[in-house]
Amino acid sequence: MNWREKVLDFDNIGNRGDELTGLVFDVQKFATHDGGGIRTLVFFKGCPLHCLWCSNPESLAVKPDIIFVPNNCIGCGVCRDVCPKNCIRQTAVDGNGLDFDRKNCTLCGRCAKLCYAGAINIIGRYLTIGELVRIVERDRKFYEESKGGVTFSGGEPTAQPEFLTAALQELRQRGIHTAIETSSLLPWESFAPILQHVDLVLCDLKHMDETEHRRLTGVSNQLILDNLRRIAGLSIQLRIRMPLIPGVNDDQENLRRTADFVAGLAIVQNIDLLPYHRLGEGKWRQLGREYGLSGLPPQTEGEVQAVVQYFSERGIAARVGG
Ligand code: SF4
Ligand code: SF4
Repeated sequence: MNWREKVLDFDNIGNRGDELTGLVFDVQKFATHDGGGIRTLVFFKGCPLHCLWCSNPESLAVKPDIIFVPNNCIGCGVCRDVCPKNCIRQTAVDGNGLDFDRKNCTLCGRCAKLCYAGAINIIGRYLTIGELVRIVERDRKFYEESKGGVTFSGGEPTAQPEFLTAALQELRQRGIHTAIETSSLLPWESFAPILQHVDLVLCDLKHMDETEHRRLTGVSNQLILDNLRRIAGLSIQLRIRMPLIPGVNDDQENLRRTADFVAGLAIVQNIDLLPYHRLGEGKWRQLGREYGLSGLPPQTEGEVQAVVQYFSERGIAARVGG
C-alpha cells in the first residue's frame, strides 16, 4: 500500500479514540535538505502564521483539507453523485469545473476514494507514534551512513506540542537525529520543554520590522526574536534561515537589520538563504484560496548572489538552500 492510498483510507482520515495522534499532511523520504544527511521530513498540519508566499498552503488549517486538481478531472460526476452532503456541483461536463461547498463538507473522503482520476485528495492523516516510528525506522541505515535523521516541519510542528514531544523523545531513545523547522512563535515556557529533546532547530527570519512582519505573516515577530536569542544561548544547534522574497524583504534596510540580529546572537554566525519560488501557487487554487503574491517573479541568480555577498561581508557565513 503506498502513501497516497494510506492517506485515503477511511480509517486513517479520522482521529482514533484516546490514542495520541498527530495530524500530518506529508512524509518525504530521502530528502537531502532541512537538517543534513539523508532525512525523512514529516510535515505537520496547522500553522499560526499565514505567510503570503507560503508554498504549503495545505498545511495551514489544523484539520484535514480537501484539494481538487482540475487538470486530472475528466468530468465523470462520480464525486457529485456519492457526496452525502451534496457539496459538489459540476460546472462543466468536460472536467475542470467543480464547485466545492467546503463549509458543509464533512471530509468523509468518499469523493476522493472513488475518484479514480486522482483529481480529489484529502490532505491530512492522523498518525500514532507507533506508525510514525515504523515509517522512519525503515530508513535508519541511510540516516546512519549519511549523518541524517528526521526533520519535523509543516505547517508548524510545535502547534501539536504533545505529539511532537512524544515523537522527539521516542526518536532520541532510538538514537535517531532530530530537527524541527519552526517559526518559534510560542511562549518560552511551552517551547523549552520541546527543545530539550531536539538536536537541531531551523528557524526563519522573515522580516525584521514588526509592522511589516504582521502584514506579511499575520503575527508580530517579537516573540520569535526573543526565542531565537534564548535558543542561541543554549547548547542546542540553531540554523537561521531567511526566505528571500523579491521586493518584500530583500531590501538593503531589512538585510542590514537581519545581519545585525544574527551578528548579535551568541555563537550563531550563519544564515541559510531560501530564494523565492512559485511552486506552491497552484496549490492555493486547488484549495479554493487566493495566492497573495500572484505573478511575482523569482530573483535572478545574480540578485541572490549579491545577498550572499552582503552577509559574507558582514562576517556571516551565508549559503543558498537549507
Ligand atoms: S473529480 Fe474525479 S470523480 Fe469528480 S468529476 Fe472529476 S474525475 Fe470524476
Ligand atoms: S469529502 Fe465527503 S462531504 Fe466532502 S465533498 Fe467529498 S464526499 Fe462530500
